[in-house]
Amino acid sequence: MSLDRRLPMLGTLPFDAPDDRPREECGVFAVSGTDSAARLTFLGLYALQHRGQESAGIVSMDRELGAQSHKGMGLVSEVFDEEVISRLTGDTALGHVRYSTAGPSALRNAQPVLVNYRHGDLALAHNGNLTNACELREELSAQGAIFQTDSDTEVVIHLIARSRDENEIDRVMGALRSITGAFSLVLEAGDTLYAARDSRGFRPLVLGRRGDAAVVSSETCALDIIGADFVRDIEPGEVLKIRHGVVEAVGRLEPATPAPCMFELVYFSRPDSTVWGLSVDAARREFGRQLAREHPVDGDCVFSVPDSSNSAALGYAEESGIPLELALIRNHYVGRTFIHPTQAGRDFKVRVKYNPVAEVIAGKRLIVVDDSLVRGTTSRGLVRMLRDTGAREIHFRVASPPIRFPCYYGVDMPTREELIGATHSIDEIREHLGVDSIGYLSLEGMAGAVEDSGPFCDACWTGSYQAPLVDLELGHEPASFSY
Ligand code: SF4
Repeated sequence: MSLDRRLPMLGTLPFDAPDDRPREECGVFAVSGTDSAARLTFLGLYALQHRGQESAGIVSMDRELGAQSHKGMGLVSEVFDEEVISRLTGDTALGHVRYSTAGPSALRNAQPVLVNYRHGDLALAHNGNLTNACELREELSAQGAIFQTDSDTEVVIHLIARSRDENEIDRVMGALRSITGAFSLVLEAGDTLYAARDSRGFRPLVLGRRGDAAVVSSETCALDIIGADFVRDIEPGEVLKIRHGVVEAVGRLEPATPAPCMFELVYFSRPDSTVWGLSVDAARREFGRQLAREHPVDGDCVFSVPDSSNSAALGYAEESGIPLELALIRNHYVGRTFIHPTQAGRDFKVRVKYNPVAEVIAGKRLIVVDDSLVRGTTSRGLVRMLRDTGAREIHFRVASPPIRFPCYYGVDMPTREELIGATHSIDEIREHLGVDSIGYLSLEGMAGAVEDSGPFCDACWTGSYQAPLVDLELGHEPASFSY
């Protein structure tokens, strides 16, 4: 047999493409006031890698050389090396990890976006999704603006660059007042940083300190990696100016009822982060405990769909008194694209990512805890795999309510037609997954578990959108500009 005939046909696929998870969105990290700014930013991005694995970038500002930039497609460890980091000089640096929610996955869309305009270098890194970016882009294009990216973030750069205000803070505030939706962003204007959150505070952004240096980060876990202390959350609508490590509050956006994203607690943020004043691990355990109270079932063991469901499964096991087991082992080294044999079985992609521990599963009544269900594809494959491994009963428990609406505030979710929670009843979902029982955490149970914080955005469960969906109402497809 020739070698060609022995090998299966090979193709590549984006490994996460039909996955059952909403996508991590973006992470931002910035440092001011130390000559190690770029090196610390590199480490910070490492800790924020879970928020975006498609591209990474850092822009440092050197007083003599001006902006120094490096961006690339891939993981932080793939994009940066010692030689690159040592070239990123200056006492101010801004970094970004990105997952593109729609539109082309291309280097031109990697952030930070860097331009040079009449007042100097300007770099911007953004987490969130602007809900009037299409409208602004059309207006700016009609005025002659030329866009270099497909990103909603670039409109902010244009708004600042085209401002007639002589004062830099006025230019920044004017741009921020023109945009709606979700933004936790950091702007680098020369060696001055500006950090801002939208008035509802959809996405997290925290302030830290490491000696004389000030640090801004999407999550606290990235402060830990560089030995920085958590100072406080940057408040919804707050705009900070940071120069050589000195932090100054310089503006406020129009107040609105805060609507921090509940999904950060359910899935996105790392469990070792503190988000919305809560330990993410503690919040997820409480979701799991409440889930056990709402949907008790007899079983031999509880286990998680690793890793994002680990804390919720612990909570379920603690509350129910049923032992927690490690029944699924996740392969952490799959990568973003995977070369796969096209003739492999229908659940091949699930098998590559998770492998069952047969001794734990065979002949047992299993309680599987997952953090959320989006399309149901991965979960269905997992259930088939568990059945094939000899599970006697499978009881599926979801530590959040059924997702019924897309997110327009910076989280990649499919359309309503693809959301299993929007198109199927609970019993139809049970049947579709092929499980013996299914139970979702109630909306009240989820909110009650974290009632001391909030109010939260819960629009993907309720359809109650807090920030105006300007582009959608004008007939644009906002997801085409979402990051
Ligand atoms: Fe978060 Fe859902 Fe609100 Fe989007 S719609 S910001 S995912 S809670």
